[in-house]
Amino acid sequence: MEINGKTKNFVILGNPIGHTLSPAMYNTAFRSLKLNCIYTVCQVELENLGAAVAGLKALGIQGGNVTIPFKEKIIPFLDGISEESKLIGAVNTLYWTKGQFWGTNTDGIGFIRALQGRGYAIQGSPGAVILGAGGAAKAVAVSLMMAGMKKLCIINRNKERGTMLIEKIRELGGEAVFVEWDTANIKAALEEYCLLVNTTPLGMVPDIEKGPQVEQEWLTPQHFVVDLIYNPRETQLVKKAQAQGCKTMGGLDMLLEQGVVAFEHWFKEKVPREAMARELERWFA
Ligand code: NAP
Repeated sequence: MEINGKTKNFVILGNPIGHTLSPAMYNTAFRSLKLNCIYTVCQVELENLGAAVAGLKALGIQGGNVTIPFKEKIIPFLDGISEESKLIGAVNTLYWTKGQFWGTNTDGIGFIRALQGRGYAIQGSPGAVILGAGGAAKAVAVSLMMAGMKKLCIINRNKERGTMLIEKIRELGGEAVFVEWDTANIKAALEEYCLLVNTTPLGMVPDIEKGPQVEQEWLTPQHFVVDLIYNPRETQLVKKAQAQGCKTMGGLDMLLEQGVVAFEHWFKEKVPREAMARELERWFA
């Protein structure tokens, strides 16, 4: 890919940012469509976030993404945010619309598309247990509710954060309960709900032996187990679930789908989904 005077720039803002797979995924997409675009990373200090956004606008950056820890903090610096972002309360994608620099959230829709892609029927499902109540949990919970999930059970270590999330779901017209983070409570929730979504970082590299407190024998083939962690590709939780005959989904599916939705915001071209998926697979191989 030749970089020249007409190359359009996309960036991801975060801190730390060295772990991101986004440049690999999007630059592959650009190459596959022969788009004269490049996607790079910017590690930004929190106190410089406003200046960084002003800089992106002044430089005519075409779009990009935002990751930890700026998904919520960036909102006041943008010209506007989408309805999805307002509902979730966080932004992960930046784009221009009508001369303004806006943010949207593709994590939620990416999660839903990934889950449906694995054959899970959300409408008609009696409910889901979500471990965690952070940024990813908000996107998952709001999107599941909007997609027709009947009831959500949020289990979180920090009670205040968990309670805030169920209040948000109830304000949006959904049904949700908060349960304290405790081994017996997780076991009891698994007896009631059959979709389990881990949104905590428990089990992520380098601590791959750790995981949420879910014993293998609590899982049955009726459970569908999702872990948002994509590194490692198969967490201890996913391995336990597979050993019990559960259907499972790792975090790579959501990573890909949220990227596909972001790409749809930037370009009218057909998204090169297969090329993006292959690049993610290659990275892990
Ligand atoms: P976050 O906002 O920091 O939230 C982390 C959540 O995990 C909080 O609810 C926190 O509980 C809980 N937690 C952290 N350490 C814990 C521990 N030792 N024991 C029990 N609970 C613990 O992070 P996030 O942005 O939601 O990201 C969470 C995970 O999702 C990360 O692994 C991230 O890589 C993954 N993710 C994946 C995708 C994807 O596309 N696959 C997208 C987004 C995020 P407290 O409230 O008690 O602190």
